[in-house]
Amino acid sequence: MSAAAAAVAREERLLTELDSAIGDADHGGNLRRGFTAVLAALDEEAPAAAGTILALAGQRLISTVGGASGPLYGTLLRRTGKALGDGAAVDAVRLRDALREGVDAVARLGSAARGDKTMLDALYPAVEALDGSAGSFRAARAAAEEGAAATVPMRARRGRASYLGERSVGHQDPGATSAALLFAALAETADTGSGGAGDHGDSGRAA
Ligand code: ADP
Ligand code: MG
Repeated sequence: MSAAAAAVAREERLLTELDSAIGDADHGGNLRRGFTAVLAALDEEAPAAAGTILALAGQRLISTVGGASGPLYGTLLRRTGKALGDGAAVDAVRLRDALREGVDAVARLGSAARGDKTMLDALYPAVEALDGSAGSFRAARAAAEEGAAATVPMRARRGRASYLGERSVGHQDPGATSAALLFAALAETADTGSGGAGDHGDSGRAA
């Protein structure tokens, strides 16, 4: 969550620029506000289990972000957290299975599918690249980035961008872009093995 908050803070302007082209220019601010609230909640009370941390973070995103991305990412984290449960140990296989459940819940909540030019176009390729090995988080990050880039020629069928019809073509989807940032944060964290209870890191606090 610290790495995700830092990535969102770093790329806030890019996310808002993308959302100004095909939305209402609030995606960067929405996520920065949301993840700042997540870190504040975890500073107050950091549960020991990863699943409980994700569930709390998701709840906080839902309650602090007014835009569509709040309930959608909130559902992703909450559902993933619930699927992980409150066990102390999380391995790559359990995390992969839990993330798949989380992404399916996002698709159900948004009544969206792949190819609709949404965050799902990064989230689905990412979870499909996870094979249950710790090393595959890097492949998931690359798949999410490719998936985000592949939204450029798509016509939006869900969310605000869909109101633009044909005019949504030629722009990268802001939510697919932020989903790639979140998987990049996950890959970094998996690589360094950081993220123990209470370890919020410097960059997270600066956010
Ligand atoms: P809002 O659209 O309410 O201003 P944001 O700007 O924070 O919210 O987020 C917009 C992003 O949310 C879009 O780029 C898209 O990826 C995602 N999104 C919007 N609607 C849906 C949906 N129905 N299903 C999945 N993702 C969606
Ligand atoms: Mg917006």
